Amino acid sequence: MTPELMAAENISFSYETSRVLKDLSVSIQKQDFIGLIGPNGSGKSTLIKILGGILKADSGLIQFKGTPLSKINKKLFAQSVSWIPQDHPMVFPFKVSEIVMMGRHPYLSPLSFGSEEDFDITRCAMETTMTYQFADRYFNEISGGEKQRVMIASAMAQNPELMLLDEPTSALDLKYQVQILNILKYLNTNHNMTLVMAMHDLNLASQFCNRLILLSEGGIVRDGTPEKVLEKDILEQVYGIDIDLSIRDGHIMVHPVIRN
Ligand code: ADP
Ligand code: MG
Repeated sequence: MTPELMAAENISFSYETSRVLKDLSVSIQKQDFIGLIGPNGSGKSTLIKILGGILKADSGLIQFKGTPLSKINKKLFAQSVSWIPQDHPMVFPFKVSEIVMMGRHPYLSPLSFGSEEDFDITRCAMETTMTYQFADRYFNEISGGEKQRVMIASAMAQNPELMLLDEPTSALDLKYQVQILNILKYLNTNHNMTLVMAMHDLNLASQFCNRLILLSEGGIVRDGTPEKVLEKDILEQVYGIDIDLSIRDGHIMVHPVIRN
């Protein structure tokens, strides 16, 4: 059995009065590549933030490698789990290489600028994500697909065991979507990286992820292999549209039925 990396038990969360996550439980195994799917507003971003320790659940227990989050050393947690938000507005004009070096932050001592090892690690992260060639450019002056690769490089430099990504491909054209997913697949396969990724494209999720978690109104309605989760009845119910399924190269493909 693969070891459990993170477990959330009976998590509930509200923003002010509206309850967004309802008694939700999930267990993340080492080297899972999880696609977190579900309609807008179903709670994907909120769940990702709770797993990443950015938001605190109102009730329930979250454990990382068997230790409750409340008892984990913050620096150790920052070395182990990285969170890539959906938007990354940069107010200050940082260079790409500086943003990737920020991934080393949980390892640096105060006032240190990074050792040779830190530079080697960031260079490797930039090479893997094909961002080294624009290391000296300003983050604000590169394209959306390039920005997303830089954020992955920064997360990779952090050398985490778990990467949480919030819709890493949503703003990108098809070519860059596939490029990002190929990088994530590479990290999953070759670096044993565990990934939890919110995303909307069910067909890409079906092809790249080994496991899908379908959220609806703050609860998990399905959790398992793409074959188990991508079923016509449940998708029609959750998304509120008619759906056809097909199989391509062994993967389930989801097609909305357009009625005129
Ligand atoms: P998803 O990522 O699946 O679209 P979210 O987790 O962003 O869903 O949102 C779940 C619900 O919580 C939505 O109804 C949304 O309007 C609400 N919500 C999200 N962020 C906030 C916030 N900062 N304050 C109040 N309500 C919020
Ligand atoms: Mg979201």
